[in-house]
Order: sequence, then C-alpha cells, then structure tokens
Amino acid sequence: MSKKIIIGNWKMNPATSKDAEKLFEGVVKSISGIKKTDVVVCPPFLYLPSFAKASVGKGKIKLGAQDAFWGDIGAFTGEVSAEMIYNIGVKYVILGHSERRAMGENNADINKKVKAALVVGLIPILCVGEKQRDEDHSYFNLVKAQLEECLEGVKKNFTAKIIVAYEPIWAISTTIDRKDATSSDSREMAIFIRKILSDKFGPEASKIRVIYGGSVNEKDAGDFLKNGGVDGLLPGRASLDAKKFTEIVKIAENI
Ligand code: PEP
Repeated sequence: MSKKIIIGNWKMNPATSKDAEKLFEGVVKSISGIKKTDVVVCPPFLYLPSFAKASVGKGKIKLGAQDAFWGDIGAFTGEVSAEMIYNIGVKYVILGHSERRAMGENNADINKKVKAALVVGLIPILCVGEKQRDEDHSYFNLVKAQLEECLEGVKKNFTAKIIVAYEPIWAISTTIDRKDATSSDSREMAIFIRKILSDKFGPEASKIRVIYGGSVNEKDAGDFLKNGGVDGLLPGRASLDAKKFTEIVKIAENI
C-alpha cells in the first residue's frame, strides 16, 4: 500500500505574507511527529520562495504550486514555468484544478503542463472531476476523457511520480448549492480511475496515488481515508486552518 498523502490547497489565500507565514509555521510545528504520511501545502506562488527556504532541513513538509506553465522560458507574460518552480525547491504542482478549467484551461493545455512538470521533476497532482452527476452516469465518460487527454503521451516510467485527485465540483466548498460527496461516491470513482489508469499504463498504474478532494474536513477525513478507496486527501478550505489541517494529517497518520 502506498504512503498516504495530505495536500492543502490554499488557493488565493491568505492576503498578507504575515498571515501566510503564521499559517505555514502553525502547520510545520504541529506535524513534527508525523512519520508515515506525506504532507504538502500549496500556497500562492508569491509565498513559495520564503517557505522553501524556511522548510530546508525540516524535511516533513513539502511544497506544491497551484499551477505551472508548459513553456520553459520566454515571452509568456504572467506565467511561471515548471522549471522555475522546481529550482526553488518545490516538489509538487496542482494541475487542471476545476477553478483553472473554469477560466478556460482545457485538457490539451493541462496535458502540456503535466509533461513539462514531469520532465523537470515536479510531481503533478492532476485534478479531474465532474460538474454534476446525471442518471445516465455520463460523468464517468467525462472523467475518462479528462484522464486520457491530460495524460496523453505520458510514459509509464513516470507513473510513480503522478497523483490523480478526484474532485467532484458539486462537492467543492465554494460551489453554489453544493452537496456532500460520500466515501462511497469517492470509492466508486477511485475504482473507475484506477481501471482507466491500468488500461493505459498496465501494472505500472498501481504506483499512481489516487486522492479525494471536495470539502474534506477533520470530521469526515477518516471515513474518506478508510472507505473512500483513496491514498490521500486534498483539502481546500480546511487547509487554511492550521489546527484543522493538522488534525486531518494526524487522522491519516493513525489509520
Ligand atoms: C479544492 O477546490 O481543491 C477543494 C478541495 O476545496 P474545498 O476543500 O474547499 O472544497
């Protein structure tokens, strides 16, 4: 069984570097005893360099970016390349998050980003998930297409370096009229995702960690980890509270 991983997606929070440092330090301090769980926080780009410096030698906490561009250098105003991110000591990158897809990013863009990330040594956390569920279950086809198109051309020797995050948009905390996803929703989709990955990569697919995200908190984390068929969690809102986030980490550690 692969090591559990808890990844905090801070999104565009907090507003000041002072608050960001406080949150980061709060997490770093409270995970000092964690041994069996990988812990990653993904703050806005701006905070990454100082956090990378501050976490040198602390080993336990890893950093992730919330996006990375596919080009390596040049005339791409406003973008930050995967290599730039890797070079400051960041190990992970969230790619294809639904909030970026909503701004126009498509599977082909994400595919280029996944490949660029892997080439420089970043671990892509590829987000997939449907906006809503329908009685015909066509959301399975949508997730299948997301996986196939975003991972198109990726070689099987990279499988140990890929994480797939199932994030049903209808369960994300900021979705209007959101609904709670259950651990059985997660389990069913995790099984389906693993089947698609295994059709694509063969036995090597078992090295890909599949995680769940969508309003996960300290109350339901245990259920998702025990019964949701996943190797970890991607909390958003709950990761902005050091206490709640580290409670989720400790739940993962003790399962
Ligand atoms: C997310 O959008 O990645 C996420 C999981 O957010 P939340 O936990 O706030 O639903």
